Amino acid sequence: MNLNTQILIAAVLGVIYGFFLTLYPQTSFAEHSLYGLGILSSIFIGLLKMLLIPLIFSSIVVGVSNLQAGGQFGRVWKITALSCLTTTTLALILGISCAHLFEVGKGVDIQIFQEAMQNHQTPDTLTPSSFLTSFIQNTLINPFKALSEGNVLAVVVFALFLGVALVKGGESFSLVRNTCQQFFVMMMMLVGWVMKLAPIGIFALLAKLIATEDLSVLSRLVEFAVVVTGTTIFHGAVVLPALLWIFGKMNPITFFKGARTALVTAFATSSSSATMPLSMKCAQENLGVRPQTAGFVIPLGTQLNMDGTALYEAAAALFIANLMGLDLSLTQQIIVCLTAMIASLGAPGIPSAGMVTMIMVLQSVGLPAEAIAILLPIDRVLDTVRTVVNVQGDMMISVVVDRYAKQAEVESS
Ligand code: ASP
Repeated sequence: MNLNTQILIAAVLGVIYGFFLTLYPQTSFAEHSLYGLGILSSIFIGLLKMLLIPLIFSSIVVGVSNLQAGGQFGRVWKITALSCLTTTTLALILGISCAHLFEVGKGVDIQIFQEAMQNHQTPDTLTPSSFLTSFIQNTLINPFKALSEGNVLAVVVFALFLGVALVKGGESFSLVRNTCQQFFVMMMMLVGWVMKLAPIGIFALLAKLIATEDLSVLSRLVEFAVVVTGTTIFHGAVVLPALLWIFGKMNPITFFKGARTALVTAFATSSSSATMPLSMKCAQENLGVRPQTAGFVIPLGTQLNMDGTALYEAAAALFIANLMGLDLSLTQQIIVCLTAMIASLGAPGIPSAGMVTMIMVLQSVGLPAEAIAILLPIDRVLDTVRTVVNVQGDMMISVVVDRYAKQAEVESS
C-alpha cells in the first residue's frame, strides 16, 4: 500500500476513533487513549517542527541563489507576488459575498454572544499601525536569535539576503553555496523519513481533535461554520483549480493526487508551517516543480499567502457585525478586506493564528475585540479546512510560477 493511501485510511480511522472516544468520556480508557494519542501527535509534529527552520533557511538560500544565477529572480518574484495578491483578493471577495448571501449571524441567538462575553478578558488593542511596527521589529533581528527562536519571517528575510549575496559573490562563495545545497538535500532526506510516520501522526492528531473539541458549541453556530467551511472549500475546489488550469496548465486532478499528502497533513495539523516540509516534497516530487522554484515559493507562501485565513477573517467580521445588529457600510467592508489581507500576511502558520490577527480585523471597523470569544470555541475545527486551502494555494502558486519561469528560460535560450 502506498503512503498516500495509508494516510487517507489513517485520517478516516482517526476521525472514527475520535468519535468512539467521545462515547466514553472521563473513563480511564479514554484518558489513557488520549495520553497515547498526545504522545504520538507530539512526536510527529515535533519532528516536522525540528526540520522547519533548517529547511526554510537552506531552501530559500539555495532557491534564491539558483534563481539569481539563472537570471530568473525578478520574474519569479513578480509572478509569486502577483499570484498571492490575486488569490487572496478572490478569497476575500468570496468570503464577504457568501457572508452577505447567507446573511450569517442574522437571527442567531444573541444569548451566545452574552454568555461568551462573560469571563472574557479584553485582549490588547491591535491596530494596523501597531501591527506593522511589531512586524518590522520582529523581522529585522539578529538571525541567530531568529533561528534559535523559530521566528520564521525573520529567517525568511535573512535567507533572502544571503541568497542574493551568494550570487553577487559568484565563484568566491561557491563553497558556502555548495554546502547550503548539500545541507538542503540532506534536510529533504530527513523529511522523507518523517513522512513515513505521517499515517500514525495523522491518525493521532485527528482522533485527539475530535475527542477533545466541544462539538456541541459548533452545532449552535452551525450556520456560520457551514457557510465559512463551504465557501473555503469552494475556493479550494473551484477557484484555485480553475486558476491552476488556466495559468499553470495543470489538470486539477493531477494536482490533488500529487498534493494530497501535504493537504491531509495540513488538515490534521492545522499548521501550514508544520506541513511545509511535506508541501515542498510533494511539489518537487509529484508536481514537477523544480527545486529552485519550490525552494523559494513554498517557504515564502507558507508565511505570507493564506487564502483560507483571509476568507475566514472577512466572513467572521461580517458575522460578528450581523450578530450585533450592525450593518457595515461598503467602505467599512473594504477596510475589513484590506485589514484581513494584512492580517493573513502576518499570521504565522500555526494552529489558530488567524484568531489572534482577527482582533485587528474586528477593531478596524470598531467591532469589539472580545467578540473573538464566540469564535474561539469553534476555531480549532474551522482551522482544519482553512489551513488546507492555505497550503493548497502555496503549492498551486509554485506550479504556476515554475511554468512561467521555464517558459522564460526556453524563450531566452
Ligand atoms: N492555522 C492556519 C495555518 O497554519 C493559520 C490560521 O490560523 O488561519 O495556515
